[in-house]
Amino acid sequence: MGVSKNLDTAQIAERLARMAAVEVKTNEIIAPYTSYKIGGPTAVWVAPQTETSIREVLAIVHSGNIPLFIMGLGSNLLVSDKGWPGVTLYLGVNLSGWRFGGSAATVLAGTRLLDLIRYAVDHGHGGMELMAGIPGSIGGALRMNAGAFGQEIAQTIVKVQGFHLDGKSFAAERKEIGFGYRQAPDLERIVLTSAQFHFKPADAKMLKQRMNDILALRAKKQPLDYPSCGSVFKRPPGYYAGALIEEAGLKGERAGGAMISPRHAGFILNTDNAKAADVFRLIRKIEDRVWQRFGVKLEREVKLIGEFDD
Ligand SMILES: Cc1cc2nc3c(=O)[nH]c(=O)nc-3n(C[C@H](O)[C@H](O)[C@H](O)COP(=O)(O)OP(=O)(O)OC[C@H]3O[C@@H](n4cnc5c(N)ncnc54)[C@H](O)[C@@H]3O)c2cc1C
Repeated sequence: MGVSKNLDTAQIAERLARMAAVEVKTNEIIAPYTSYKIGGPTAVWVAPQTETSIREVLAIVHSGNIPLFIMGLGSNLLVSDKGWPGVTLYLGVNLSGWRFGGSAATVLAGTRLLDLIRYAVDHGHGGMELMAGIPGSIGGALRMNAGAFGQEIAQTIVKVQGFHLDGKSFAAERKEIGFGYRQAPDLERIVLTSAQFHFKPADAKMLKQRMNDILALRAKKQPLDYPSCGSVFKRPPGYYAGALIEEAGLKGERAGGAMISPRHAGFILNTDNAKAADVFRLIRKIEDRVWQRFGVKLEREVKLIGEFDD
C-alpha cells in the first residue's frame, strides 16, 4: 500500500489532537502494541475513546485521503520494521464492556475475548468456551473469524455494528457477512464497534471444566513463553501447517532474532529482539520449502502491515 499524494499527516494529526476523547501521538512505535513486540513507527497513532469520536476521526482521516490501519489488540499482526506511513486507528481495549439479557449479549468491540468467555462460562452461557486462550479483542476476533477446537466466533454472532471508513454507520446481520475460515472479507473496510451474540444455555460447571481443559492443553502444546502471533499459517485442507513445516525439517530454524518454534512449528517466535524482516524471511522459507516438498500452498493467517521486501 503506497502513501497517497495528498498525504499531510502533520495537518491531520493537528486536527485530531483538537478533538475531545481522542489520544493522538506522532511517529509512535507500534511494536509495544503488538503481541509480537515488533514493528516500526506510524506517522499518526490515534486512539478514540468513544463511538462518536471514532466516527469523527474516520471522517477527518478520510477527508485527507490518508492510508488507515485499524488495530485491535495486535495479536495477529506482523508490522513492518518501516512501520505504517499513515494513520493507525488504535482501538485496543477502548470501548469495552457488555450487557447480557438471558443468553443474548451486546458486546463492545474493545472487550477482550477471554474476559467475555470467562463471564459467559461463569453464567452458563455456552458457545465460546473452546475459544478460551485466544488473545485479542472482540473486534479482531470478528474480523478474523477467530476460532479453535471446532468453535468460531461466527457461530454465535447475530449482528455487528460499526462505521465505514468515511465515518458513515454500518450494521449487518450474520447472514449478510461472508464469514469463512479465519476470514470475514466483508468486514475488511469496516471499523467494528459492537456486536450482538447469542449463546446457548448450558451447565456452568461443565463449561468451566471444558474451558480449563482447553487452557491447560494450550499451555502444554503452544510455545507461550516468547512473543508471537499464534499460528502464522491457516490450516491447509487435509493437512496441519505445523506438521508440514516439521516434516520439511524447519523446526528450530532461525533468522536473526526469530525462530520457528521447536515445540509447535506453526509458530514463529520472537526469541531475541527479532525484526519483522527476520520473521518474514522464515515465513518465505516455510512457504517455499512446503511448496517444493509437498506441493501445498500455505496461506498466511497473520496480517502483514506496511512494506516488506519480497
Ligand atoms: C499465542 C496466540 C495464540 C493464538 N491462537 C489463536 C487461535 O487459536 N485461533 C485464532 O483464530 N486466532 C489465534 N490467534 C490470533 C489472534 O489472537 C486472533 O486473530 C485475534 O482474533 C486477533 O484479535 P486482535 O484484537 O488482536 O486483532 P489485531 O491483531 O489487532 O487485528 C487483526 C485484524 O483485525 C482487524 N481489526 C481489529 N480490530 C478491529 C475492529 N474493531 N474493527 C475492524 N477491524 C478490526 C485488524 O485491522 C486486522 O486486520 C492467536 C494469537 C496468539 C498470539
